[in-house]
Amino acid sequence: MDTGRLKELIRDVPDFPRPGVVFKDITPLLADAEAFHWAVGEVSSPFRGASVTKVIGIEARGFIAAAPVACRLGAGFVPVRKAGKLPWHVEAQEYELEYGDGRLEVHRDGVGPGDKVLIVDDVLATGGTARATTQLVERLGGAVVGLAFFVELGFLGGRSRLGGHQVLTLVDYE
Ligand code: AMP
Repeated sequence: MDTGRLKELIRDVPDFPRPGVVFKDITPLLADAEAFHWAVGEVSSPFRGASVTKVIGIEARGFIAAAPVACRLGAGFVPVRKAGKLPWHVEAQEYELEYGDGRLEVHRDGVGPGDKVLIVDDVLATGGTARATTQLVERLGGAVVGLAFFVELGFLGGRSRLGGHQVLTLVDYE
């Protein structure tokens, strides 16, 4: 398994969810036992020595990528969700979307002082979602040790919005 093979398992779906967007569909990658296992290993390995205590998954495909990474690293899993989905007390962060604003939430006891946090999502696009997630972690007193994505849409420049944080991606579309 290598990144070339991984790329073959990421399907381009033009004009989804709206005209002009090429959606990077990772379901063929997830359905391939070897590729999914390999991708989870590649995302986890660089952070093995980082004493990660929590892995955050961003709704919804980020959950799928983050949960096995958390198990690999011996860390807890914490979901970051869109507004109104989490049942308990939340910390919220507004962020800009292409059209209008979005709002992400995390449970207030999901992250705390002393936590070392790895943030995981399937795709890094403009970086707005990931940036809002780093802000949530830091507001709750946690330290972001890095961010990891299966796919980076490098031409959108999302990485530059993530400050000095370590950013790991497996497949880049420049
Ligand atoms: P971002 O623009 O980086 O804030 O991305 C917003 C969210 O939408 C992330 O959770 C990505 O997983 C997802 N996303 C954005 N663009 C795409 C795309 N072209 N294909 C698949 N997922 C995307």
